[in-house]
Amino acid sequence: MNKIKIYDKTFVPYIPHDELIGCIDKVAAQINRDFAGATDVPVVLCILNGAVIFTGELMQRLDFPCQLVTTKMTSYVGTSTTGEVKQTLPLTTSLKGRRVIIAEDIIDTGLTLVAIKKILSEEGVADVKVCTMLFKKEAYRCDETIDYIGKEIPNRFILGFGLDYNELGRNLKDIYVLEED
Ligand code: 5GP
Repeated sequence: MNKIKIYDKTFVPYIPHDELIGCIDKVAAQINRDFAGATDVPVVLCILNGAVIFTGELMQRLDFPCQLVTTKMTSYVGTSTTGEVKQTLPLTTSLKGRRVIIAEDIIDTGLTLVAIKKILSEEGVADVKVCTMLFKKEAYRCDETIDYIGKEIPNRFILGFGLDYNELGRNLKDIYVLEED
């Protein structure tokens, strides 16, 4: 893997594809264990756009009947959070009374998670579990429980495997990190 340049920034290889797949195998096995024998149809809620690749990989590994629902949340501009989270596409279906597994690419400050949980509570869901591929523990400043974590990473800006820098880089198979000065 080589360095890549996107716009004005250089990114260096960080988490190889195979390691990401191992993280997804791990959380999928935990979810399968917790949802074994489900008689309802739990919902996997993909938070667009960043979680699209993670959710696709995760769902292929779930062995109980489940439904895909999406919504889009926006908070990042460039390489940092604006601190203001907006729902820029509504839920694709009502989730009243449903069990929901939130599928996030990365949890950073946790503000997006808090905003999603508020939306789900207003919807009247039956239960919420939170699953994230990556977790920036040092940056997290909320109390919400995160049920399934693929991998903890330091507080640095990354891209690839669904994550972008100003909408570029989502198609990279591996994850790259912003090169330090
Ligand atoms: P939070 O609301 O937890 O601060 O941020 C969550 C969202 O911010 C993620 O779903 C993702 O879209 C974006 N985000 C957080 N950290 C990074 C990062 O290092 N790289 C990229 N590309 N997006 C990030």
